[in-house]
Amino acid sequence: MSKSFDVIIAGGGAAGFFTAINIAETNPKLKVAILERGKEVLSKVRISGGGRCNVTHACFIPNDLVKFYPRGEKELKGPFNQFCSGDTIEWFERHGVELKIEDDGRMFPVTDSSQTIIDCFLETSKKLGIQILMGESIQSLYRADSHWKIETNKEVFLADKLVMATGSNPKMWDMLEELGHTIVSPVPSLFTFNIKDSRIKDLMGVSAIATVKVKGTKLEASGPLLITHWGMSGPAILRVSAWGARELFTKNYQFTLQVNWLNDMDADECDEVLKSLKHEHAKKTVSKKSPFDFPNRLWESLVTASGIDIETRWADLTRNQLQALAAQLTNGEFQVNGKSTFKDEFVTAGGVDLKEVNFKTMESKRVEKLYFAGEVLNIDAITGGFNFQNAWTSGFIAAKSIVEEQNI
Ligand SMILES: Cc1cc2nc3c(=O)[nH]c(=O)nc-3n(C[C@H](O)[C@H](O)[C@H](O)COP(=O)(O)OP(=O)(O)OC[C@H]3O[C@@H](n4cnc5c(N)ncnc54)[C@H](O)[C@@H]3O)c2cc1C
Repeated sequence: MSKSFDVIIAGGGAAGFFTAINIAETNPKLKVAILERGKEVLSKVRISGGGRCNVTHACFIPNDLVKFYPRGEKELKGPFNQFCSGDTIEWFERHGVELKIEDDGRMFPVTDSSQTIIDCFLETSKKLGIQILMGESIQSLYRADSHWKIETNKEVFLADKLVMATGSNPKMWDMLEELGHTIVSPVPSLFTFNIKDSRIKDLMGVSAIATVKVKGTKLEASGPLLITHWGMSGPAILRVSAWGARELFTKNYQFTLQVNWLNDMDADECDEVLKSLKHEHAKKTVSKKSPFDFPNRLWESLVTASGIDIETRWADLTRNQLQALAAQLTNGEFQVNGKSTFKDEFVTAGGVDLKEVNFKTMESKRVEKLYFAGEVLNIDAITGGFNFQNAWTSGFIAAKSIVEEQNI
């Protein structure tokens, strides 16, 4: 016997729950079910943001917010005008969850626990009578006559409308391809760089505000750079990894990274600064104290890498040594050999081709009564709460259009 629902949501993640709740709140008469293959729902929400869940970002203007999305920038403008980060804050507040802003703009629940978000979703779903069916792994989807037929490992479901919120699951993308959609091939985004180099060996934990470039490409980002025991991480690196997700994949993650430890100071300016330091600090030992805004340990390492003896005084620096130091400071080249996972957040670039989706409704342009929400789409962002914002926005719009259509 098959079970019938007005709307079936495939996938019990952030996007799936947000869609289901918004449908059921707007029209409590609709029978809504979430099908989740796992033994638990919202598992990514649980581990997100290092267990704190970075729910959104304090960037409230749609045209500014879209700039954080390497894939989806153009398409998300309209959706953010319907449901933006300010609406997210208000939505969670209305559901009893207060969010706070951190210095870098990231927003978390005041409890600093992702469990708060999970509890909010589970309690609200229960109140609204949303059926959450776990251990239901979708095996096939058909649009038969006027309804969807969805087969899981256990049973068959019928639904008038289907929302795909299955994240980056290749099996579901295969099924969508069979239904006529194009899938942009998936590659990882948001990763850190593996670098073995004597200049950063033993400097784990040191950070600087730097500009990094991938040599021979247009990829460039500025921001905090963190030296780790395997290489480099921090916002500047993660940004390059997101914007360059596809390009770096084709390079098999083997490339040269150019680091400007002085962020926006170029080699000529740096040369001038070093010359004046040579006069000011003539009698002092160069390696002793960093004259720039980064730790002594990094300074000492760059001084050594410039071929300057650790005991050399500023007055004794030769022209060549000054130039070598300026080069190390503003254009240090590091060989990257592979990537590592950034534990706090990672996503997949790729998914349903955005040209095939109506962003006013989140409905498929190829298949009737099929909607999308979240990471199943070829949308992803840099780290900072933007990936969840995509889940909330697309889920909200899918829900709104489903309810409106159902009312006709
Ligand atoms: C470690 C980590 C930390 C993160 N931290 C943050 C953060 O702090 N802030 C932020 O903005 N983003 C963060 N992200 C990214 C964010 O988690 C995702 O962008 C977001 O979870 C996507 O939500 P979704 O609902 O689209 O997909 P998912 O959360 O992946 O949910 C999809 C669901 O569908 C289910 N499913 C798949 N296939 C089937 C099937 N065949 N049948 C039934 N069910 C199926 C899956 O089991 C899953 O539960 C993080 C990601 C990771 C991995």
